[in-house]
Amino acid sequence: MDVGQGDALLIQKDGQNMLIDAGENKYGKTVYDYLQKNGVTKLDYVIGTHPHSDHIGGLDDVINGFEIGKVIMPKVSHNTKTFEDVLVAIEKKGLKITSPVVGDSYDLGEAKWTVLAPNGEKYDNLNDYSVVIRLEYENNSFLFTGDAEKQSEEEILKGDISLASEVLKVGHHGSASSTTDDFLERVNPKTAIISLATDNSYGHPHKEIIEKLEKNNIKTYRTDTHGTIVASGDGKTITFEINNFSKEDPQSSAKDSREYIGNKNSQVFHSKECNQLPQEENRVYFKDKKQAKDQGYRPHSVCIP
Ligand SMILES: [Zn+2]
Ligand SMILES: [Zn+2]
Repeated sequence: MDVGQGDALLIQKDGQNMLIDAGENKYGKTVYDYLQKNGVTKLDYVIGTHPHSDHIGGLDDVINGFEIGKVIMPKVSHNTKTFEDVLVAIEKKGLKITSPVVGDSYDLGEAKWTVLAPNGEKYDNLNDYSVVIRLEYENNSFLFTGDAEKQSEEEILKGDISLASEVLKVGHHGSASSTTDDFLERVNPKTAIISLATDNSYGHPHKEIIEKLEKNNIKTYRTDTHGTIVASGDGKTITFEINNFSKEDPQSSAKDSREYIGNKNSQVFHSKECNQLPQEENRVYFKDKKQAKDQGYRPHSVCIP
């Protein structure tokens, strides 16, 4: 999900749902709305990767808003109101926090996810407490790293849990303090996803990370330029769709998903390849056929979208 400078990821499989982080406090409603829109009523798992506000900020809204199964958070506290709010929400619901144990696996429908970090008990850097998990379903695999940095990556590399993943959620918003050469080599992803805001004050993503991804021919999607990113795996291949769900300006990212083109006057919609497309000024764009039909548009009889 595009939550500006922060992380929020929804994973759905066979009617089960899992949320990893929920962005800053102010994005609580954004995350809540996105989950609702995607038919979530229960979150089987909620992971708060580590107590920084850009990860756990919106969690209280989510915990209050849905039925919750397991809440997984690392064994570390943080003296902030945001962190307190999350603990209060957990307690009010009578939930308990499950500590991540490296090697533990959980089912999400027919998919399975495994905890890879944190491996230690004590870190100087809160980011290294990040819960890192690898999710797999048949031949599809994803690695979600939170803000884990070099130290945690090195510890993961020493472990014997398989690390290779087709999709990598790049650590710490593309900061150079994460994604070491060794780590990237072992994960060996085809696609990378970076979650961050445009013009953030940290200079993320750092140039060296982008160069590293390019050098390794890793296709990269970024929430600052692409908005919300949807990856769908069928057990064989993973396909990506850039969603036009965006927190600030839904129109700005809609242009990335101009799959179908409608004619405002005739209320007919076309596939974008049709050779009878309407004049620019009469066009309206849809991301999918459902959106076009929901707005009362009929499919064009020639291109039959
Ligand atoms: Zn962060
Ligand atoms: Zn952090």
